[in-house]
Amino acid sequence: MRPRLLLLALACLASALAAAAPPPAAVADPYARQTLKITDHAWLLYNNLRSTQPPFEGNVIVFEQRAALVVVDAGGSIPSGRNVVAAIRALSDKPVRFLVYTHYHGDHNLGAGAFLQAWPDVVIVSSAATRSNMTGAPMAYINTYAHDYQGMVDYGAGALKGTKLSADERREWQRVVEIGPQMVAGYVGLEAYPAALVFTDSIELPDEQTPLQLAFLGKANTDGDVIIWAPRQRVLATGDIVVHPIPYASASYPGSWLTVIDRLKSYDFAFLVPGHGAIQTDRRYLERLQAAITDIRAQVAPLAAKGMELAEVRKEVRFAKLQDEFAGADSWDRSQMRGFFLDALVSNAYKEAKGEPIVQGHDGG
Ligand SMILES: [Zn+2]
Repeated sequence: MRPRLLLLALACLASALAAAAPPPAAVADPYARQTLKITDHAWLLYNNLRSTQPPFEGNVIVFEQRAALVVVDAGGSIPSGRNVVAAIRALSDKPVRFLVYTHYHGDHNLGAGAFLQAWPDVVIVSSAATRSNMTGAPMAYINTYAHDYQGMVDYGAGALKGTKLSADERREWQRVVEIGPQMVAGYVGLEAYPAALVFTDSIELPDEQTPLQLAFLGKANTDGDVIIWAPRQRVLATGDIVVHPIPYASASYPGSWLTVIDRLKSYDFAFLVPGHGAIQTDRRYLERLQAAITDIRAQVAPLAAKGMELAEVRKEVRFAKLQDEFAGADSWDRSQMRGFFLDALVSNAYKEAKGEPIVQGHDGG
């Protein structure tokens, strides 16, 4: 066969193969949600990821009152908000009357635009502190969020070319790179939608069927965390005061956080819905979380009192036992636990011990 014919034959073969081959497998929607009935008149809309797996998306809870719905958190991206709205419409024809934010972090509220489009009369509710955070510097990060996520995807693509990754890290970075374009697109053109109705201590959303109490129990994960209590259904939504299975510290207030967890324990809940992760039906995870915060504070306080710098304190603090307990052997979860929880907790416990302020949108690294 002459070269030209060979090339022609190969080209024909290639086009025949292309015609026969299935289209490239579609990447599953990284913002997909599943619906779980918690109990009567209460549903959880969740994603199937651990709290250490991007994209970071908070739980959404739907409460059904007589004439309308009350929803806790809105999804953390534009497509996520659309998916949440679609899932709510599949549950009920009733409109959403109130959308409650547990706190200002975007993984809980950047989907709210879809709510305002679907139900223009929806009233967004939050603590006064959360509104202040959402209208000020702590929320400014959303302007670079798509860019920052792209940076994470690029970092992962680079790391995958090397040989240093563990099997767990390789698995997770491959996942991040695969969903990368869809994930990043979800953060382009973000807007914050601060609450129209705010409170400082507590507020009730009365109803014969599903009365709801919203309360600020003290500074914990942020300076404005709101919990939602449904006494009839005995459902307690905590926002990121509780994140499962790996806790989240960010610009948290370790000492006050412990007191807030005590207050959570005093609720007679049957279902505790954390900000991320699985529903808890007893107090064990709250106790583990308290023990972890207590452990880090107890390690940091004497070192801070000795006058050590934060960088030195970090070298002294022992994390392995807590990593074993929360993250097990998974090296991705162990390293994410450092970033999401332990390092931030050390920094915040240090500031607390020194009497220095913890600043939203600034601290936590
Ligand atoms: Zn969150």
